[in-house]
Order: sequence, then C-alpha cells, then structure tokens
Amino acid sequence: MINKEAAMIASQCRHYAMCKIDYLGTGLCPSAAGGAFVSFYPQGRMDLYTYIAAGRIPVTAGLIDIADTCTLCGICDRQCCFITELRPVVVMKALKEYVAAFKSRNEKPVSVASDDVLDALRNIVGGKNASNDPAILCTYANDPCPLSQPVFPSHVVLPGTEEEISLIVRYCADNNVPYTVRGNGGSVMGFVMSKGVVIDVNRMQNIEFDEENFCVHVEPGVTAFNVQREAVKRGFRVNTAEPSAMIAANLMCSGIFSLFSHSYGISADNYINARFVGPDGSRFNLNQIDAPNLFSYNKEEKPLSGICTGVSIKLYPLLEDEKGILIPFPDFITAITFIRDLAIRRMGSAAGILGGEYISTFMAPTAGLASTMKEVFSKNVGIQYLVLVIGDSWCIESVIKMGVPVIDNRLFRTLFLGFPNIASSGWLDILKDFDDDAYPFEIIAKKELYPLLEAAIRPSPDVLAGAFDEDMREFFTEVYKNEAMTDLVWLNMFRILSSRMGRYKHVVAFILYVPLADPIIIFDLDKQFKRIADKHDIKADFGFLTPIDQGKRGVFEYDYYIDHTDEHEIEKMRASIGEVAAMIEDFSGRYKGLKWIKYTLYQGFCRSENLLYT
Ligand SMILES: Cc1cc2nc3c(=O)[nH]c(=O)nc-3n(C[C@H](O)[C@H](O)[C@H](O)COP(=O)(O)OP(=O)(O)OC[C@H]3O[C@@H](n4cnc5c(N)ncnc54)[C@H](O)[C@@H]3O)c2cc1C
Ligand code: SF4
Ligand code: SF4
Repeated sequence: MINKEAAMIASQCRHYAMCKIDYLGTGLCPSAAGGAFVSFYPQGRMDLYTYIAAGRIPVTAGLIDIADTCTLCGICDRQCCFITELRPVVVMKALKEYVAAFKSRNEKPVSVASDDVLDALRNIVGGKNASNDPAILCTYANDPCPLSQPVFPSHVVLPGTEEEISLIVRYCADNNVPYTVRGNGGSVMGFVMSKGVVIDVNRMQNIEFDEENFCVHVEPGVTAFNVQREAVKRGFRVNTAEPSAMIAANLMCSGIFSLFSHSYGISADNYINARFVGPDGSRFNLNQIDAPNLFSYNKEEKPLSGICTGVSIKLYPLLEDEKGILIPFPDFITAITFIRDLAIRRMGSAAGILGGEYISTFMAPTAGLASTMKEVFSKNVGIQYLVLVIGDSWCIESVIKMGVPVIDNRLFRTLFLGFPNIASSGWLDILKDFDDDAYPFEIIAKKELYPLLEAAIRPSPDVLAGAFDEDMREFFTEVYKNEAMTDLVWLNMFRILSSRMGRYKHVVAFILYVPLADPIIIFDLDKQFKRIADKHDIKADFGFLTPIDQGKRGVFEYDYYIDHTDEHEIEKMRASIGEVAAMIEDFSGRYKGLKWIKYTLYQGFCRSENLLYT
C-alpha cells in the first residue's frame, strides 16, 4: 500500500519552497498555480504522503482532490531535482495510486464536519479559502527545524485582502483562537506553526510599480523571485534574499540581508512604507504619526507585532556595464581585511566572502560532485575563500588594479559549465609545471591561460547537464544554454542556486551581525563554531560574510548540517545548540556590534542603525 521509496523521498522535503516559484521557466504545478493551499503544491503533497505513510491521515475529500488534481506533468521533478536531487514525481504517483486503491475498494472518504471557527472564517474569505480537512492541515503542521515539534493547526485560511486579514485577526482575538501568519514557510525555524489558525497569504500576490518614485508596492504573498523578475524587466532591481521567500515575511523575520546589503543596507533601509494589521485587527501604516513604532529595536526575543499586508520596497536602477568577479583567498583574515577595505571605500553594489562549502555546493549539480570539488578547490587550487564583487566597469577596473588575482565571468563560466570535468581533466597537473611560489589560483587567473583551461575542461551546457539523471539531461542542457545561468550578476540577483546549501542535509544557519574592524574577532568566532560542531560530530562550515554600513559591521553566517529525519542527528543538534548559544552570548558580551539574529526576528522592519549600534 505504502511505497517505501516514495515515503523516503517525501520525508526529505526541505520546505525551501523552490517548487512554488517558476525559477526554471517550466511554469508552476498546474493544479496549484494561483494562490492555493500549500497542500496543492509539490511541497504540500510531499508532506501529505509523509503523513499517509505514518498512518496519521484518513482518506478525506481533500486528500482525494489533492491526488486527483496532480496531472503527473513532471514539472516538480525538474524544479526539485535542480536544487535537491530529489524526484518528487515518485511521490506524486504513489499518492495517486493510494487514492486509486481506496476508490477501487468502494470505501467512503471520512467526512470532516464544519465547526464555528470554520464557519466564521468561511464567512470572511468564502467557502473554498478556509479548511479544517486533515489532508490540508497536515501540510502546515511541520518543518525541518530540529528544535521544534510538529503542531497540527485547527484551520488554515487564505485571505485575499487586507480587510479579510483584519476580520480574521479580530475574530481570533475576540474568541481566543491562536493564529500565525505564513509566507512560504521557508524560514524553517518552526515559526509558521500554530495549534489554531494558520493564515496563509498566498492569494495576495499583487505587484504595483511606481518607477518615478523608485519603489514597488507588493502584497504579502509576493516572493522575492517574482518581484525581482518584474523589476529587472523594467531596468531595476530590489534587494532580496532567498528567491522563494516572501518579501513581507523576509522583512518581518530577518530584515533581508544579501550580498547587495553591502550597498543597499538591511531592515528599514529596504523599504519606504509598510501597512499592517495589528493584533487587535486595527490597520496602520508606518508613515502614520501615531503608528506602533516598528522602527525601534530591542535586544530581546519578541512576538509578532502585526501582519504586514503590503510593503513599498526600494528600486535601484540596473547598470549596463555591471559585472561580477571572484577573488580567491588562501586565508580568512586576508579576505576579511580585503572586503572591509572595499566597503570603507564604497566599492561595488554587492560584496561578500563565500566559503568553500558554498562555492562548490552552488556550482555543482549534485552533492557528490560538490564534495569532490570542495576538496579540489581547497587542496589543489588553494582557494579557501572567494570574495565576490559586483560593480560597474570603474569599480571592477579599480579592483583589478589592486593586483589581486581575479576570476572574471569568462573563467567562472568555464569552471561552472565544465564542473564535472574539473577533477578528471588533467589540467590540475598543468598547474604543477608553473611557478612554485604562486598559489595555483594565481596561475589559473592568468588570462593567457584561459584557452588552455577551456581546452582541458571543455565547458558546455551538455557537459554540466550530463551530471543529472539521464532523463533530465536534455532539459538541463537547455536551461544552461541561457547565459543568465552562468552570469554572476544574474545569479546573485535571483539567487536560485543558494538553496542548494540544503541539498546534502538540512542546514541550521547561525547568523550574526559582527563588527568588522578587527578580523581576529570573526576568525575566533568561526573557530568556536567549528570546535563545537566537531565535538558533537556535526558537519559544519563557514557560509558567508557580507559587509554592511560601509564596513563598520558585517553579516556572518555559519552552518551546521543535519539530517532532519534522523533522531540521532536531531539529538546531536539539540546537544550542541546550548553550547553555541552560550558561546555567542559570551562573544556578544565582549564585543560591541556583535548580535545574534535570534534577537532581530520579528524586528526586521527596524531602523538598521537601531539594530547595529544599540
Ligand atoms: C536556504 C535558505 C537561505 C536563506 N538565506 C537568507 C539570506 O541570505 N538572507 C535573509 O534575509 N534570509 C535568508 N533566509 C531566510 C528566509 O529567506 C527568511 O526567513 C524568509 O522570511 C522566508 O520567507 P517565507 O515567506 O518563507 O517566510 P515564512 O517562513 O513563511 O515566515 C517567516 C516569519 O515571518 C512571519 N510572517 C510571514 N508573513 C508575514 C507577514 N505578512 N507579516 C508578518 N509576519 C509574517 C511568519 O509568521 C514567520 O515568523 C534563508 C532561508 C533559506 C531556507
Ligand atoms: S524539496 Fe523543495 S522543491 Fe522539492 S518538493 Fe520540497 S519544497 Fe518543493
Ligand atoms: S507532477 Fe503533479 S505535483 Fe508535480 S508539478 Fe505536475 S501536477 Fe504538480
């Protein structure tokens, strides 16, 4: 009855919601597109099958509907495989087979009675936009966070307007019904669960540009990817982070930090005004003189201060001569010093240090290749860290004049499209014939050697696509023919590769604001994260460091990787987290400007100076 392979795949869903955005140009799941419950997206169907496999969900009308509306079109296989290597269509088939077997037995689905709360919600949003069907509810009950327990909501509701959100909140406040609001659930910190009502804002996807005022107004169901795509069409971009994250959620949750925060800032730097529904159902906007003060910041864990129903975020004009380059570094301190220097001089629109784990994981189509290449990059090529800089031609020329070895976009494309051949092509032997005093990366960065490298590595879309399952290769060859997919500027604006960081195992990210004046502090912090991870036998690595506020502060991420489906791994994570917390508090007590992101959660709309300098 239960397909074990399907159950295993379903349990691995990372909830990063990449199957809820059309990032490969495949279109979206045909049965879900356009503001449905998450249950109708591939992500929800994965969770549903997990609950079915555990025998925790009866067959209901909702379950039959979800299974029947899947056309087995295969879109989710492409979207999910690109990021995670998982193949959800196995799950989708198993779900259909499960329902088909049920129907063949002529059994009746369990009927789910309405109740007062459901009636009230349906009065506000209409019949099909609120549910208490367990097949819908179970897809809102969990995320991969190893520190939280699953919580089954009593109802899920899809409001379509600010007015409806206000009425829902008022009803919940008057009737003591707990609730939470959910964007795409990609924060994966156990936040978007409630034993009461989950308010899913997926229907509210309106985007309205005001180009003369350099801003774009987005409703709370608008994702980073969708607004970026529309902005770029008009010659602008916005500061966004994860592509599947909703702008309002990302702002509320963490204030949006990205490599572009180097020039565009964080938190209140990102928006012009925002509208909210307060906990009593009242409505306000932040430019209102008597509005609650969401610009303030306190170093404390805070509850949700309201539901953001719309935000006007800033638009920045695109430049035609903008380019991306990568600068390799053999050690962390030199890389930090370099990036701070750039920030103080206000060079570049985006900048950051990426660790070896990120670089190899983002570029590699499979986890196996990523791990091989991490070794090759660090041991054979000498690259421990890469500084990414995006800037106009004046900026890039100035960086090159600083005398650092530079991986330009041509070399990056060679390495990217030739990725599967790098370890085996023999070009690593060529490096041995060169100057012993130079780092190997200094040799490969020499322009005169590009043709030699290209001949050895043979970069091409089909070479890279060749690393995917055979039936996927034709599709991915077409994907990689699009030059945007190997363009450092495009890749950083749309960030479609970054959720690959969770491909090997689910990632628990520790994010901190850090002072940049003394690189030793960050170096020590990095060492402490590693020490604790090693002690608990957890795979871990430095993620990234981005300068903000002209090099006075930075955003630092260190990642622990665990299999969220393995009790033993969850236990290791739980055991380590207390030590990590104590270590961070110790650092925060000693150094001004060092702050853990847990204190900024739900305060992301604050003025960035209040956050960075209090
Ligand atoms: C692989 C990966 C990489 C990431 N990298 C970055 C990064 O570089 N920079 C960064 O800033 N973040 C990053 N994040 C974090 C993530 O983008 C944010 O947490 C974001 O909020 C997720 O968006 P979501 O729509 O999925 O939010 P959800 O998970 O649905 O919600 C996040 C929180 O916001 C609340 N919320 C949701 N909608 C609203 C609303 N309309 N009004 C008020 N509160 C609301 C929810 O209750 C919840 O507490 C990363 C996440 C992943 C998985
Ligand atoms: S792993 Fe990600 S892309 Fe795949 S089904 Fe789950 S949420 Fe969607
Ligand atoms: S196979 Fe089914 S679940 Fe996957 S995208 Fe197509 S319709 Fe949606």
